Amino acid sequence: MKLAMIGFGQAGGKIVDKFVEYDQRHGSDIVRSAVAVNTAEADLMGLNHIPSSKQILIGQLSVKGHGVGADPDLGREIAEENIDEIQNALNDVPVHEIDAFLIVAGLGGGTGSGGAPVLANRLKQIHTEPVYGLGVLPGSEEGGIYTLNAARSFQTFVREVDNLLVFDNDAWQKTGESVQGGYEEINEAIATRFGVLFGAGEVGDDSEVAESVVDSSEIINTLSSGGVSTVGYASESVENPSSGGLLSRLTGQSTADDLDTASTTNRVTSLVRKAALGRLTLPAELEGTERALLVVAGPPQYLNRKGIERGRKWVEGQTDSMEVRGGDYPLMDSGKVASVILLSGVYKIDRINELQQIANEAKENIDSIRDESEENLNELVNDDEDELESLF
Ligand code: GDP
Repeated sequence: MKLAMIGFGQAGGKIVDKFVEYDQRHGSDIVRSAVAVNTAEADLMGLNHIPSSKQILIGQLSVKGHGVGADPDLGREIAEENIDEIQNALNDVPVHEIDAFLIVAGLGGGTGSGGAPVLANRLKQIHTEPVYGLGVLPGSEEGGIYTLNAARSFQTFVREVDNLLVFDNDAWQKTGESVQGGYEEINEAIATRFGVLFGAGEVGDDSEVAESVVDSSEIINTLSSGGVSTVGYASESVENPSSGGLLSRLTGQSTADDLDTASTTNRVTSLVRKAALGRLTLPAELEGTERALLVVAGPPQYLNRKGIERGRKWVEGQTDSMEVRGGDYPLMDSGKVASVILLSGVYKIDRINELQQIANEAKENIDSIRDESEENLNELVNDDEDELESLF
């Protein structure tokens, strides 16, 4: 599946940068176009793979390249004022060559949190291609204001996109790890999961090979439930049968004959279960899922059709959904078999309830401190007897 990716804000830019790097490393051909938008010049300077002509600095008049200081209202305002400039950066995207737009942003800050929904709104007005969001929730140790920002942005972003894929930093951050080091690993995990998912829709032209290969239309159909999505992943190293991957599959003399069918079936089925029951990008209950898509990637000899079908049936049972699609993604040179599961239209998510509760508490706290602020300052500055005179 070919995407035009827009990274909004620091997290958004870094994650899209990582996607471009992933795409080059794996030759997966997903990123047709990559743009980074930011109000902070320094954040753009940290990007290594998005060309500088595709790095857009907005709001220079108001914030002078220093960012919006985690203020999503300012982020939204600046995005609205500069929407034409952002739009221009996307003008040379060959829209007939892409399947969808993907806007990536951390929802806890200001630039991406406020700006991403504004861009989604604009893109949806102009294009018929689906506009997806990838929203990153903050870690709980980041504090109330980030949670409040994320809860507000989440609400808005879900409404503006065709589907919001969510990644929850809180479920992924390890304690005792430096934030930057942690993000490096987390961003790699994001690129791997979504890279396999979207990459799957890119192998579809060779109909003989592609009999059960996932097509981009299946990804789009799964995501067309709308709402919120989460993704699971599991992988296992295998020995790559070094020669004749594609050829042997075409001629039917598959080296899979040499592999024990029962064990390849079992491997696939168990990887599907591990992906669904392991750590999802956003922890959610399987039961509350509208649609799902299962992708099993790896050397063709290991992509056992029976295993995928069994896994698909199992997912149907777990999700109570009859719309579970499944297929494979042949990766000739890979040394791994991986399973990715996309759960779309998930609605039983404790983490979102918790986020909203903490956000409400943070809002009440901020409001009450603001209300008392003038009074407290007066009390501090003025002397008790009110005898001192200020200079002017
Ligand atoms: P913005 O530049 O104003 O949009 O804000 P940032 O993107 O710097 O931060 C928003 C949120 O994104 C933070 O609160 C973090 O939760 C998260 N974040 C920042 N950098 C990264 C990153 O590299 N990876 C991930 N996964 N999350 C990040």
